[in-house]
Amino acid sequence: MIFNTITAERFFTAERGLTVPGQTNSADTAQLLDDEGHPVKEAVINETGETNTCLVISDTQALEQMTSGHGDEQDQQDSVWMRHALALADRAESEGEVPVGAVLVLNGAIIGEGWNRSIAGHDPTAHAEVMALREAGARLGNYRLLEATLYVTLEPCVMCAGAIIHGRVKRVVYGASDFKTGAAGSLLDILAHPGMNHRPCVTAGVLGDACADQLSSFFKRRRAQHKAERQRGMLSSR
Ligand SMILES: [Zn+2]
Repeated sequence: MIFNTITAERFFTAERGLTVPGQTNSADTAQLLDDEGHPVKEAVINETGETNTCLVISDTQALEQMTSGHGDEQDQQDSVWMRHALALADRAESEGEVPVGAVLVLNGAIIGEGWNRSIAGHDPTAHAEVMALREAGARLGNYRLLEATLYVTLEPCVMCAGAIIHGRVKRVVYGASDFKTGAAGSLLDILAHPGMNHRPCVTAGVLGDACADQLSSFFKRRRAQHKAERQRGMLSSR
């Protein structure tokens, strides 16, 4: 997917009047097409007033088709950090939690890591993203996490999207979409809501298949476990 930055810039500045750095509106981009005639899902006005090429790309095939220099470098970085998030998700699973992992990165360094801990911690807010945001805030001594990128294996829920906005996280990269509770476009689009005073740049589908497989394998194993436990229970009660 090649992004027509000139058309987009004209569209935003002339027709929509969006000139504030960081301003974005996914609804406005519905009429915007890239060079190949595909609808653009999202565009962000960057610090210099030019249109950023940071787009929401939901399918991995389109992601692979992005072959230009900087895009390649960012794609590689995104994959590296998403693998790290996947490893953190493994840690969640080894602790008996749903495998979701998150890592916050600033200037190429980790500032916060998180993995689901709700069950063990008896804490409905202990999602991977929140844990990573808390660690980063404590480490930086600041609840604003400007310029940071959050990598998370699963699309953030409403609570985590709210926390991301409160932390002013610059960019969110997620793997698998969550059609039941996703708040980055699947169920709701909190992160791109035009009424929000901060809207992070969002990239979806990075290592999406690996992230989705990790979760579906977990739930499959858990269903089989529960079934076996039920059958054992029935046998012992005979
Ligand atoms: Zn969440």
